[in-house]
Amino acid sequence: MSIAICPGSFDPITLGHLNIIRRTSKIFDEVIVCIMHNASKTSPLFTVEERLDMVRRAVSRYPNVRVDAQSCLLAEYAKQFEGAVIVKGLRAASDFEYEFQMNLINKNINPNLETMFLTADGKYTFLSSSVVREMAAYGADITGLVPNELIKEIENKVKQRRV
Ligand code: ADP
Repeated sequence: MSIAICPGSFDPITLGHLNIIRRTSKIFDEVIVCIMHNASKTSPLFTVEERLDMVRRAVSRYPNVRVDAQSCLLAEYAKQFEGAVIVKGLRAASDFEYEFQMNLINKNINPNLETMFLTADGKYTFLSSSVVREMAAYGADITGLVPNELIKEIENKVKQRRV
């Protein structure tokens, strides 16, 4: 059985992430979306539990996709799934440099781990979680950037942060 791991911070999940997850689910038998979190990282907008819940709802229409959360190194996490491949989205040259470096680090820890890249859909090359957070913070409309069912939640969370 072929397994793909789609890692990320998903703070919050965007339609760009979802596009990569959907396309990956057509290629692999099983997809594990892994929310990577690190206690030492600057404070995220959503807690891990909230992100788990939001990502689960966003991918619920894909039967071969499941969601997990992890604070260890991705290369260590992947060891438990034999033959699993990391799948990531590539938006631009800037993503490439970072991803190239990450791949070398992962290979050092886990030489059998392969990473594959899907090019971002043209509609979403500009889209990142930080763009969504920033737009919501300024009260801009985030329709078309995140799953519709999550819009209210994101807007409310940003409002709470402001008070
Ligand atoms: P972000 O950069 O949005 O904070 P994450 O760290 O959660 O994203 O990213 C997880 C993965 O999703 C990365 O491989 C990243 O390149 C990919 N990704 C993020 N946004 C997009 C997008 N708009 N299109 C394609 N891939 C994306």
